Amino acid sequence: MNNTELQNKKFSQDISTWYLSLGRDNLPWRKNISPYRIWISEIMLQQTQVKTVIPFFNNFIKTYPNIKSIASASEDDILALWTGLGFYRRAKNIYKTKEIIKNEFNNKFPKTFEQLLLLPGIGRSTAGAIMSIAYQESYPIMDANVKRVISRYKDIDVHNKGSIKKLWLLSEDLTPKKNIFEYTQGIMDLGATVCTPKSQNCSKCPINITCKGAFKDFQIENKVRKGRTKKKIYFTLAHSKESFLLFKKNENSFWESLWVPYNRDNCEKTNLFKKPAKKEVITINHLLSHMELEITIEIFDYKSPFKIESNLEHRWINKNQIHNYGLPKPIKTIIDNYVC
Ligand code: SF4
Repeated sequence: MNNTELQNKKFSQDISTWYLSLGRDNLPWRKNISPYRIWISEIMLQQTQVKTVIPFFNNFIKTYPNIKSIASASEDDILALWTGLGFYRRAKNIYKTKEIIKNEFNNKFPKTFEQLLLLPGIGRSTAGAIMSIAYQESYPIMDANVKRVISRYKDIDVHNKGSIKKLWLLSEDLTPKKNIFEYTQGIMDLGATVCTPKSQNCSKCPINITCKGAFKDFQIENKVRKGRTKKKIYFTLAHSKESFLLFKKNENSFWESLWVPYNRDNCEKTNLFKKPAKKEVITINHLLSHMELEITIEIFDYKSPFKIESNLEHRWINKNQIHNYGLPKPIKTIIDNYVC
């Protein structure tokens, strides 16, 4: 073994040992580990923080504890459980993936890295996490935490062209053949709790002796978000004592496939709405990752639902059933606070 190999071995051993005493073994997806639970948690954790994910994960697993139980779920069922978590394409990918597993894998979770990579929403890092945590096979990963730890450890500027390729190669070299379960979770936890985006607690870090970035005064990686574009949207929410009139959003943009009130910008002019008994207008702001929305909603209050031809695109939804439908967070907030 040459010097670099010895140093890489020590890196992974130190992280695995640290994980066994200080890792976050209380996270719900780290109990009763299965490929299915790791898959759901990894998809939820893409672009979302752990503390936000925990209640959504618990609720999802309570409803669908394993791959068999989710087999007959509709896309709407899955989107309903995703309401408020954001980045709804992830939920649509879960639906597509479980359909593939049902139809092509006889409802058994795929066991190889190559099979996992073919599934919607599963890239190299997510497949690596499932392989190393659920199947305990050695595969590198590169989520945001791992990227930060390795880039600081090897002093790689992540803004440079080609840095991601370099980091993947380093991750391959640093990933051990043994104790892969402890190492993978350990390096994720180290990035989440010790070597965080805004600070690094190098004195408490198990790899501080060989880390090139140890005790260095890193520029705080304040995410200066690229200026979000602003957009105004206008909805009309018709409701009666017992139901809401909602529309399934079909266009390929944010909130795709979720249920929203009538959108005056995207739908053709309609004479759907009769004169309401009461009318109220509410404006709220909502931030998406790339856009700032100013949402104006006219709330039309009717004594009873007026007649429409219900179809897949729009329908009166009973207020008791609303939790079975995927709704964007601001729409859910308005429904919960103003009209329920
Ligand atoms: S020594 Fe400091 S900079 Fe290096 S990985 Fe640990 S916390 Fe991060």
